[in-house]
Amino acid sequence: MKALFLLIIVVLSFLDSFSQRITKHEKALIKSSSPSTHLYVTQSTIPNDLKILRANSFQISNPKRNIWEKLSKRMIATLQHPDHKGVGIAAPQVGINRRIVIVQRFDKEEKPFETIINPEIIISSDSLWKRIEGCLSIPEIRDTVERSWEITVKYSTLDGKTKKEVVSGFTARIFQHEIDHLNGVLFTDYIKPTNKE
Ligand code: ZN
Repeated sequence: MKALFLLIIVVLSFLDSFSQRITKHEKALIKSSSPSTHLYVTQSTIPNDLKILRANSFQISNPKRNIWEKLSKRMIATLQHPDHKGVGIAAPQVGINRRIVIVQRFDKEEKPFETIINPEIIISSDSLWKRIEGCLSIPEIRDTVERSWEITVKYSTLDGKTKKEVVSGFTARIFQHEIDHLNGVLFTDYIKPTNKE
């Protein structure tokens, strides 16, 4: 009986590590202003921010919850703010360690900002290409990063649908950069020490 009880505890805490409940702090941060208001962008040069940027983010267990829609709107507002205009952002960059990113879809005519939840890269092409990257969370560094030209990515949308897509080129690069953020990886990790100065 005791062993069974212990087993249940172990299984529950294992599941919890994948989809931890949203904290009061996260709720307060997301609800601190209107959906059209930008959020503070975490900076790699600030030790407390760097902790968030280096952490592994939690899976989102229910993408349809209103709070994620609000977060997504605020992340898009952040990307459109004149102080930090960008083509993609990941939740850790606004202080939330959850698996949600915004990607500007340059592969679509209107180039919309799309909300990508719990993304997983299933296939990465062997063919690679280099391009200069920067990051809203890393001041003053831009450098060349080599990434896969094409990826197959699986993710959830805000309405809870699962999508599987093949994306390539610049859009695939944004996906890869933002998904790295969810695993605590920064683009500067790919730069050789000699260029890093
Ligand atoms: Zn970045």
